[in-house]
Amino acid sequence: MKIGFIGLGNMGGPMARNLATAGHTVTGFDLVAPAPAGVSMAASAEEAARGADVVITMLPNGKILRAVAAEIVPAMRQSAVFLDCSTVDVESARAVAEEAGKAGLLAVDAPVSGGIGGADAGTLTFMAGGSQAAFDKVKPLFDVMGQKAVLCGESGAGQAAKICNNMILGVTMIATCEAFALADKLGLDRAKMFDVVSTSSGYSWSMNAYCPAPGVGPKSPADNGYKPGFASDLMLKDLRLSQQAAESADADTPMGELAARLYATFVDEEDGSGKDFSAMLPRFEKRHRSLA
Ligand code: NAD
Repeated sequence: MKIGFIGLGNMGGPMARNLATAGHTVTGFDLVAPAPAGVSMAASAEEAARGADVVITMLPNGKILRAVAAEIVPAMRQSAVFLDCSTVDVESARAVAEEAGKAGLLAVDAPVSGGIGGADAGTLTFMAGGSQAAFDKVKPLFDVMGQKAVLCGESGAGQAAKICNNMILGVTMIATCEAFALADKLGLDRAKMFDVVSTSSGYSWSMNAYCPAPGVGPKSPADNGYKPGFASDLMLKDLRLSQQAAESADADTPMGELAARLYATFVDEEDGSGKDFSAMLPRFEKRHRSLA
């Protein structure tokens, strides 16, 4: 396929490279990032999009996505697919899909999970929103860049699935970290705690697959000085998106809201920026009883 790829950063760079390696013709554009292997660079987003069968965007936020969409939608050929893989707010995803639809294009929002490692290895999971026809057109590209793609519903459904998942993740990570810190203070051995909880009703992905305690459970960022992994800053971004969505949908999400507040404090006021999101454990270790 002829693919335009806009946003070649930590995630987009290796995703575009994998598409080129698989034999697709990839034309990229980024304001600063260099060309990934096998990708030829255009002078503008519009140039990268012109004539492409599929244009993929992998950008920092909804505002930038909307600006890029306004530039490229008029340049794209009829029936081409606008495939946004960025994590953005549900409203921006829907607005961009609507613009694309009005211009005779197909649109899919397909945020990913799997991080930089998954982008590099081509093992991402895609959560997609859009029509079945649009999804089917880009499915071969999902198969190159990832190991699983789920069509979750109409436009915006991919973003909705992503932020709901990550809201659960943020909340369970905090719960797991505060439980370890409590266990420490109760004199409970961390390995015993893991042994019990990972096979009892407190288990979760945060405990079982990504244990925040160093030296306990499978290897995780905790064993590497809390180097990300999945940075607290990105968790904060996703939790804020979940709260923005909850606000507009009038949903009551008290745990999600508290998780967003805790990660905001950790990232903005403490030393959490640039650390893995499981570094909430050393944060709790240092603290005494308080309600916030
Ligand atoms: P990044 O900052 O490394 O890459 C974003 C790229 O977009 C940058 O290279 C930037 O120069 C480029 N860009 C910004 N404005 C542009 C414009 N107007 N035109 C062209 N290029 C422009 O970020 P990333 O880590 O690659 O993340 C990209 C998206 O993927 C984000 O929405 C993020 O939330 C999501 N995501 C990231 C991870 C992760 O682990 N990094 C995991 C899942 C999802």
